[in-house]
Amino acid sequence: MNKTDLLELKNILEKPKNIVLVPHRNPDGDAIGSCLAMYHYLTEKGHSCKVISPNPLPDFLKWMPEVETIAIFEKDVEKTTQKLQKADVVFLLDFNAFHRTGNEMKTALENYKGTFVMIDHHQEPDPITKYMYSDTSICATCEMVYHFFEKLDDVNAITPTIATCLYTGIMTDTGSFKFASTTATTHRVVADLMDKGAIGSDIQEAVFNNNSYNKLQLLGRALSNMKVIPKYRTAYITLSQKELNEFKYQKGDTEGIVNYALSLKGIIFAVIFIEDKEQDIIKMSFRSEGDFSVSEFARNHFNGGGHHNASGARSELTLSETVEKFIGLLPEYESELKVLN
Ligand code: 5GP
Ligand code: MN
Repeated sequence: MNKTDLLELKNILEKPKNIVLVPHRNPDGDAIGSCLAMYHYLTEKGHSCKVISPNPLPDFLKWMPEVETIAIFEKDVEKTTQKLQKADVVFLLDFNAFHRTGNEMKTALENYKGTFVMIDHHQEPDPITKYMYSDTSICATCEMVYHFFEKLDDVNAITPTIATCLYTGIMTDTGSFKFASTTATTHRVVADLMDKGAIGSDIQEAVFNNNSYNKLQLLGRALSNMKVIPKYRTAYITLSQKELNEFKYQKGDTEGIVNYALSLKGIIFAVIFIEDKEQDIIKMSFRSEGDFSVSEFARNHFNGGGHHNASGARSELTLSETVEKFIGLLPEYESELKVLN
């Protein structure tokens, strides 16, 4: 966002407005963290705010401050669409293309005539709005929201509640500050969030230490389904709908499982294929280490996208056909994936 746009936006936000904040479909800690942080920040400035999530949140985020005020688009399309159309400003947080909110909400957003503001760290943003802060080098949208407050010269408005929301998103998107996207600046931002009242150990506890027995059993199944293709330094995991049902799958239960495949010694490319019979798709999560770009892989072969080392896509083939297609693609990447001598 250039200086002129920032000043214009600052001006727009000078007077109380109706503001809607939107995360992507299947929202994660970064999407909800950035929406709730902005919600609390803007509410304290006197705006009337509403977060509208395309679909329900995973259980591990349900402790977040005022999470209960979030409206779910797919549960009440008419009312949430009205709320959206009446908004003066709509923030799009942690995504950069309308389709990431799902088909129905995409249409509602396309029909919206007011002002959009996008803050996001994914590759190849759609040109939705001139008020766009896009930076693919930053680990989390929540870190960008912190920098946005810096740009507004207003970091001191960060309350313990806002700090908690931003900490949550940075923590979840960086695998607890482990991924390559974590920079010295990330640590400085997180340190300041702690100074401003975020309690790191409590947030870790709330997000990660609330596993259900079934979730851990499902993880056990996923790990025993894992297959390794040493030639291409690749590992993949499958979970069928039948297996998800067996362990009473709840939203969020498969979050992060793909990282176990990536943690195998020598593996640089990991995938999880999850069957969703309701939508009749296979949801794929791709992860890589180093130079191999999974966002390109997802975009080129499965119409997906994301980041260099973490991307996702959907397939309309069956589970076994999708895996077969995937395995068939690996030889094309032999030079990038093969074992180095
Ligand atoms: P995850 O595997 O955790 O669902 O997603 C990893 C990253 O890829 C996220 O940043 C997410 O936004 C992106 N991503 C996941 N699924 C899709 C998809 O179907 N299409 C696109 N374009 N990006 C995706
Ligand atoms: Mn994110």
